[in-house]
Amino acid sequence: PEPGELLLEVDKVRKQFGGLVAVNDVSFKIRAGEIIGLIGPNGAGKSTTFNLVSGVLSLTSGKVNFRGLPVGGLNSRRIAERGMSRTFQHVKMIADMTVLENVALGGYLRSSSGTLRAMLRLDRAEERCLFAEAEKQLQRIGMQGQMHELAGNLALGPQRLMEIARALCTDPALLLLDEPAAGLRHKEKQALAEVLRQLKAEGLSILLVEHDMEFVMGLTDRIVVMEFGTKLIEGTPEEVQASPEVRAAYLGT
Ligand code: ADP
Ligand code: MG
Repeated sequence: PEPGELLLEVDKVRKQFGGLVAVNDVSFKIRAGEIIGLIGPNGAGKSTTFNLVSGVLSLTSGKVNFRGLPVGGLNSRRIAERGMSRTFQHVKMIADMTVLENVALGGYLRSSSGTLRAMLRLDRAEERCLFAEAEKQLQRIGMQGQMHELAGNLALGPQRLMEIARALCTDPALLLLDEPAAGLRHKEKQALAEVLRQLKAEGLSILLVEHDMEFVMGLTDRIVVMEFGTKLIEGTPEEVQASPEVRAAYLGT
């Protein structure tokens, strides 16, 4: 995508679970090259919004357009093919396989001749290609030294980076990250922030759902703050930090 191109349009999205309105007519946009933070207290509706954007949950009303097409009509493979990729809040990995093997598993989506064929290893050239791509993405985020370690032996920080490498295998324009800094030590957070800055510099757009206010402040172009399912405010990190409503809602002061 061109820099500044409208990638994601979230327009008055609503999600009800029975009588509970988890997300109440929330709107925001993401343009190519931006890192957007989505923050708010527990239960604010962040994860639900994230799942509406990534097409995992169906909308009660409103719309989510990714590069001009509604994500509601696309399956996860089509969404990935259009250039949206996500990680999960809890690391999904096979602990006794190497980092490279774990990342390569995510590469099946990219296989032109289909998932089943790739899984049955009918095409060795294609398998090499998948592994080559996984290797490339691990190098891209500075994990070349850990490629052949068992994933289960990594600390949480590198495991989260491994998940990002896997998400990058489908060559996304927009990366969705659900609380990537949760549970990380300070140094690991810094390493993660550095990788995300680099990806942004390479032209990627990122939607970051986070609880860690400080992490989001130093990294994002704009922040959407949610409370009780609604959008409280949207602004630059400076604007959000200065907002009395945000202080009251989020910091409880
Ligand atoms: P956050 O990620 O900001 O903590 P969530 O999006 O997970 O908030 O949750 C928002 C609200 O929706 C909460 O009250 C939560 O209990 C409720 N909720 C989330 N998912 C479901 C579900 N599948 N069924 C019923 N209620 C849900
Ligand atoms: Mg959540």
